Amino acid sequence: VKLYVPRETRLHEKRVALVPAVVEKLQKLGIDISLQPGAGLAARIPDAAYETTGVTLANPEGEIDLIFSVQPPSIAEIGQMKPGTVLCCFVYAHRELATVRALRDGNITCFAMELVPRITRAQAMDALSSQAALAGYYAALLAATNLNRILPMMTTAVGSLRPARVLVMGAGVAGLQALATAKRLGAMVEGYDVRPEVKEQVESVGGKFVDTGVSASGQGGYARELTEEEQTKVAEVLTRHIQSADAVITTASIPGRPSPKIISEAQIMGMKPGSVIIDLAAEGGGNTPLTQPGDTVEIGPTTIVAPLNIPSHLAEHASELYARNLLALVGLMVKEGTLTLDWEDEILAGAVLTHEGQIKNETARKAAE
Ligand code: NAD
Repeated sequence: VKLYVPRETRLHEKRVALVPAVVEKLQKLGIDISLQPGAGLAARIPDAAYETTGVTLANPEGEIDLIFSVQPPSIAEIGQMKPGTVLCCFVYAHRELATVRALRDGNITCFAMELVPRITRAQAMDALSSQAALAGYYAALLAATNLNRILPMMTTAVGSLRPARVLVMGAGVAGLQALATAKRLGAMVEGYDVRPEVKEQVESVGGKFVDTGVSASGQGGYARELTEEEQTKVAEVLTRHIQSADAVITTASIPGRPSPKIISEAQIMGMKPGSVIIDLAAEGGGNTPLTQPGDTVEIGPTTIVAPLNIPSHLAEHASELYARNLLALVGLMVKEGTLTLDWEDEILAGAVLTHEGQIKNETARKAAE
């Protein structure tokens, strides 16, 4: 099996889909690896670090069976792939319809990492979770550095400073890491989610759970959208918590939909002077109506920080975890040194986006055809 790992070409993408530490494990599966020169440079992994593990440095040429990348390839790159190539990368089909059509027309078998089912057996392949965990950690640091006060209590000769209050809204994978990190930095932390079952998880990382009395548990551990009435009830309780926080970290998302607006303009205008909102949902448009994805803006009493592609800021570790996710996924595909796709396997069947000239994922098919 010939694997190729290209250099990422999308703006601001610093991650790479292969790190030297997983090379040997891939080779043991019978995989021959080549990597585009410079592919690891943005993550500060030099070519030599790959070469010493037996990776060939090469541009895409000859027979390639399998391609790993972080971001989806360009239409031109897809045009150069031979029909039947297996590609594993993030796609986010709903905002990449032209890419999806090109993958279909090019007969590429594409596994979209965001489609890997969130079942126990697939945990090692769950790149959404591995990247979200890093983003959550980073969000707490952004909160700390964008505040003009400190997070922990500090006792000095002239008296003590009170610890900051951090509210995390959306206590999924990213939110829990944000909570844990802010707690370790000494803040008083609170967590909120529409799924009340996360209460225990919030408490286990040292946070207090904000209970609004409304449940929005949906299928497969995901949230459903709330009705208008439910939203009003929740907003009343949340306003108090938002407006007494020094930092609010928002991570709310609904798969395949624009980010829900969970803080209103009125709530923002009543926040503490000097407070910050770290909006981790910028990719999907943001969790507030005033968020400027990719920018930091000062609005009334608060500063809204909304970076894009946060895992790329932690490119070394993000690449390492992502490469391990790919290794686990490809372990399901390579049997005795050959690529064998078992469509009875619910992980492969769930993650496949395009195969043999068809869009296999129903949501993507409806959007693209
Ligand atoms: P996500 O990134 O889609 O959403 C982040 C959080 O935002 C979720 O907890 C969601 O409930 C919350 N949210 C959505 N709308 C909201 C709103 N209006 N207000 C406040 N919060 C809102 O989710 P995620 O972090 O990727 O995963 C969510 C959950 O899925 C996990 O906590 C876990 O329970 C489950 N999960 C299971 C597995 C597995 O079993 N393999 C893997 C990953 C995740």
